[in-house]
Amino acid sequence: MKIAVVGGGWMGLVLAHKLSEMEGDHQISILERDSQLGGLATYYHYDSFYWDKFYHVILPTDKDLLDFMADLGLEDEIRWGQTLTGVYVDHQFYSVSTTKEFLLFPPLNLWQKFRLGLTILIGSRINNWRSLEKVTVEEWLVRFSGKKTYEKFWKPLLLAKLGSSYKRVSAVFIWTYIKRLFEAREDSSARSEHMGYISGGYKTVLDHLEKSLSDQEVQIRLQSLVSQIQPDAKSGLQMKINGDLEHFDKVIFTGPVNVLHKVADPTLIAIEGKPDEVEYLGVICMVLVLKSPLTPYYVLNIADDKIPFTGVIGMSTLVDVNETDKKHLVYLPKYILSTDSFMKLPDAEVKSMFFEGLRRLYPDFDMESVISVHINRAFKVQPLQVINYSTIIPKVSTLHPDFFVLNTSQFVKGTLNNNSVTSHVNHFMKIHGKHFSDSTVEVLNTGSND
Ligand SMILES: Cc1cc2nc3c(=O)[nH]c(=O)nc-3n(C[C@H](O)[C@H](O)[C@H](O)COP(=O)(O)OP(=O)(O)OC[C@H]3O[C@@H](n4cnc5c(N)ncnc54)[C@H](O)[C@@H]3O)c2cc1C
Repeated sequence: MKIAVVGGGWMGLVLAHKLSEMEGDHQISILERDSQLGGLATYYHYDSFYWDKFYHVILPTDKDLLDFMADLGLEDEIRWGQTLTGVYVDHQFYSVSTTKEFLLFPPLNLWQKFRLGLTILIGSRINNWRSLEKVTVEEWLVRFSGKKTYEKFWKPLLLAKLGSSYKRVSAVFIWTYIKRLFEAREDSSARSEHMGYISGGYKTVLDHLEKSLSDQEVQIRLQSLVSQIQPDAKSGLQMKINGDLEHFDKVIFTGPVNVLHKVADPTLIAIEGKPDEVEYLGVICMVLVLKSPLTPYYVLNIADDKIPFTGVIGMSTLVDVNETDKKHLVYLPKYILSTDSFMKLPDAEVKSMFFEGLRRLYPDFDMESVISVHINRAFKVQPLQVINYSTIIPKVSTLHPDFFVLNTSQFVKGTLNNNSVTSHVNHFMKIHGKHFSDSTVEVLNTGSND
């Protein structure tokens, strides 16, 4: 059976790995349009070492992701560390890394702190997220925390994660954030943040995956753009790959829904809703390789409208500098709508604006410390989860028994990360896995987006 997985991002790779472990006579191919595997989780050559193109960490609560890493034999390569989270507000830096620091957060008075704690408690107790979809995250947070606490604590966090688009995002966003991060903090014995990474970064993971897939005779086809998917005359499907038609018995598509809409023949899918109306957040990230550390915080959220980036990620506060050629790695991300003209500004302009912001944040910043500067962009990071997103999200059902769709645009209540992507694949395999085994006689005609 010839099976194609379209997309060699984390979703496609985990899926291909799970398929390759199934019994049966399969020929699995991964079709990836880029020249490198990994999608958003890929790696980058920072001149003298490789590290993640965008910053990635693992949380102790990322159970499905950790199980998958163990499955790959990478259990012993996980490094855990304690990290700090900071907030820059009123031109001062504050650590909010432990429950104590969090409760002592000086910009807030006792009453405001109480309301902050209460908001987190309320958020972590909510189970029915649907009512949260009807209200903006700003409205919800101001309601429970008050305006001052919102401005000084929550707004910097929203800006760091969503850029100025946060104004249109629903309260489901903060609910999932509270659940993921604060529950992780509660889990750790010291009640402070523990984060993890794989020695060598995602390059180690991707190299391992590539080897294990090749050992299972999975074909990894890079620079392979799928531009058309259509039913084949007898059975299965035909795909146009770099302009040439090729037959597959089954196809699983893992790219964004608006790409699916363009490449899939209308007889293959029914899309309820308007995929072109799903807005995607993009990210533009200036990455600095430095001689000396810039920040003690893994994440610094910024409450200052004059600073063009929305956070500072001090990767080397977690990652041993021996992993990065004894150099310090800092990411300065700015999240914006993928259609925003800022995404297309020339690198030189982005650098000049970001360095100006950096000097505002750290007046003593020493340019002599800069070894190299890199501008990385991603246009489709995640759909903007606006008010009532679950009702406007295009509902995709597949109309052909051999065509399946599995992508992150269907996530309505989960934060987007490699743990939720892995869980999504596990769920897919539980429901649909049997259709990829040669011994199966039954063929179900269903979509795959549950
Ligand atoms: C700045 C940033 C920080 C992050 N931090 C974390 C973190 O700390 N922890 C964490 O767990 N996660 C993090 N993530 C999220 C994580 O990277 C994503 O959840 C994950 O990579 C999504 O994988 P995916 O396969 O669904 O999508 P993608 O990575 O977008 O993969 C889709 C793939 O499909 C390919 N494709 C699309 N169309 C076609 C076509 N027509 N033909 C062939 N190929 C095609 C694309 O080239 C791409 O490689 C972060 C992401 C970003 C951007």
